[in-house]
This record gives sequence, C-alpha cells and structure tokens, in this order.
Amino acid sequence: MSTLMRVGASLAPITDTERVRPALPRIHLSPPHMSGAELDLLSEAFASNWIAPLGPHVDAFEREFAEAVGGGYAAAVVSGTAALHLALRLLGVERGDEVLCSSLTFCASATPIVFEGATPVFLDAARASWNMDPGLLEEELRACAQRGRLPRAVIVVDLYGQCADYERIRAACARYEVPVLEDAAEGLGATYRGRPAGAFGELAGFSFNGNKIITTSGGGMLVGQDRRLIDRARFLASQARDPKPHYQHSQLGYNYRMSNLLAAVGRGQLRVLPDRVAARRRNFERYRAALGELPGVEFMPEAPGCRSTRWLTCLTIDPHLFGASREEVRLALEAENIEARPVWKPLHLQPVFDGCRCRGGTVAEDLFERGLCLPSGSSLTAADLERVSAVVRRCYQAASGKKPLLPPLTARQ
Ligand SMILES: *Cc1c(COP(=O)(O)O)cnc(C)c1O
Repeated sequence: MSTLMRVGASLAPITDTERVRPALPRIHLSPPHMSGAELDLLSEAFASNWIAPLGPHVDAFEREFAEAVGGGYAAAVVSGTAALHLALRLLGVERGDEVLCSSLTFCASATPIVFEGATPVFLDAARASWNMDPGLLEEELRACAQRGRLPRAVIVVDLYGQCADYERIRAACARYEVPVLEDAAEGLGATYRGRPAGAFGELAGFSFNGNKIITTSGGGMLVGQDRRLIDRARFLASQARDPKPHYQHSQLGYNYRMSNLLAAVGRGQLRVLPDRVAARRRNFERYRAALGELPGVEFMPEAPGCRSTRWLTCLTIDPHLFGASREEVRLALEAENIEARPVWKPLHLQPVFDGCRCRGGTVAEDLFERGLCLPSGSSLTAADLERVSAVVRRCYQAASGKKPLLPPLTARQ
C-alpha cells in the first residue's frame, strides 16, 4: 500500500493501481483562440441592446469580411452549412438535379444538396492537393454532356486550409456553363495564385464553427460578386418575408441570419486572421521539422500556386515503412490526452450517401485509411507541439525497436 495521501476531504490512502501519472492537460485538435478584442465588441453590442439577428455588427462584419476575401458582397448566417444551403437555392438547384461535389470532405459540403431534393455525385481527390481532381471533373462533365444532362452546380472544397486547382476546375465548368460553389469553410485565409479563398466560385461559403481558423462559436458567411444574389440570400435567410406591413410570405425561407452578438465576436476574430494563419503555418513547419524524416511519414502537399493556411496539419502514415498504423498512432496520442483525428471519411463511403455515384475514389479512400490530423490550434506552444511530436516519434521507435532516429526537437533548434 502506498503512503501517498490524497489532497482534500478523503484521506484514504491511494493504492498502487490508482497511482497513475497525473494527467497532462488535454491538447485539443483545433480549439478557439480569442484575441481579447472580441469581448470589448461584444460588450458594446450588449450596451447598445442590439441583441437580435440583425444590427450594426452584422452589417459591419459583412463589409469587413467581404473586403478580407477580395471584395464583393457577404451575408452573415448561422453556420457554414446554412451558407452552402442558401447558395444552392440561389443557384437554382431543384429536386431531381445532380450536383457534383468533392468526396474527401466533411458531410456538410454535400448534405444541403439533399436538403433540396437533388442528388450528389462525388469526385475523387488528387494526390497533389487532396482536393477535387480536375481531370476527373473534366471526365464527369464530358460524360454528363454526352448523356444530355449536366449537373446544376459543382461544389469545390478547399480542404484543410488549401484552395483547389481552380484554373482547371473553372475552365472545365465554364466550358459547360456549370456554376462553381466554393466550400471555403476550411479555406479562410488561404490564397491561390495570389487571390484569396472565396474568390473562385459564383458563390462561396465560409464557417465560423468553434474548430475553424476564426470562430464566432457557430456561424457562417455567404460571399459573392453579384449583389442581387447576396441580397436575395439575406431575404431567404430571414424567412423570405415580402415587403408588406403585415407578415406575408410567398416563398419558403429560413431563419438563418447571424446574431449581432456573434457578429461582434467575428469582427474581433477577423482582425487577427493574419496572425492565426501565421501561427498555423508555424505549427506545420515545427511538426515537419520534428517528424518529416521518419520513414513512412508524408505531410499533406502544398499544391502549385497554393498558399495553404495549414488550418490542420495533416500527414499520412505508411504502416509498412513506419511500423505502426495511423490508428495505432492516434490511439497512442489519445492515451497521452492528445486529440488527433483521422482524415475525413470520404462521402462516397458514408452510409447517408449510400447509392450515390462516385467517379474514382481510391485516392480519398487511401488518404482516409492512412491520414491523420494533428493538433493544430493557433494557441499551441512549442512545448505542446513537442509533446505531440514525441508521442509520434515514440510510436516509430517502439515499432522499429531502434534507438531514437532524431534527437529531441529542442536540441536541434
Ligand atoms: C465546417 C465545415 C462545413 C460546415 O460549417 P458549419 O459552420 O459547421 O455548418 C462545411 N464544409 C466544410 C468543408 C467544413 O469543414
């Protein structure tokens, strides 16, 4: 029996089996990171009593956000999913239509297609970017044209902070006059050939969910160059109320507008977006320095013309070279109170999209099988990153039975 005593009310001795290492604080995948300014803006919103899904912070957030993503117009809404849903309504997606969509992404890229009674058709990822393979898009559009039934829209996702290959994607869509909807929920702050994410579709949707690069706890933004479309989005997002003194509705609308309180938080977050991008890119470089030389480890590539935010640091693990699988590494991290996640499960494998067509699919399946997202928050310290890296290195050493391949990160700096 140990002589250690618990601190506090109970003085029962701690038994040997209970004597575990004190848990280190949890390292989350991508936690919120407030700057301080958000609280001042929020207090101002309270003081003004604009506690409603409209108000001066909503208007200002929309203006400032549109400017930050290269101009145009913006409508602030309750979520990224709501932004994408409104976009599909605005593009005229109807029951029976087909809409093409990246397969390697979060379910909310495609669930709004089904909300409108349309059918998703999935496209595999390219190895060079993990985003939609433009060659497969060209093939699919050609096949659709031959059948005489083009898709109503193409949803292109900017995965894990990196823009898709818009030069080829836009050219293919322009040839068949199919509009592009950019799902930029993970892309805010990224650029492609010098232009910001959000500038590459007829419309683009962003998310401010708690895990995104900036957050309003929950929220989203719809962006576009056509003022009439964004005005119509605001109309649909506030119950499609006709301009009458009484309540009259001729169309189906939604209650999708963002609260003035959350818009205040969003304005504070937007001011520090460049810092948040820099911090996430720094995380990536530190991980790469610590783990890049391990056999079987490959980091998500930065495709030509792209400047990724590295919203999440993602890598793949080849179990034959590394000696342990992605899942074994993830569980080893979890055992150390570190949250890591597998790469998105492709949508063509999701039960909810059972029966949907997919062109290709093996690249997305392989990235899901071997891909791991490491903790990537902009508030992580060098010590946090080293704690994560040390566990991954230990997995390799344990598997290979070798002496440490690399000295600790700190010794190499
Ligand atoms: C987060 C996310 C969404 C949905 O945004 P919410 O604000 O959570 O509704 C859509 N697409 C992608 C790719 C996302 O990562």
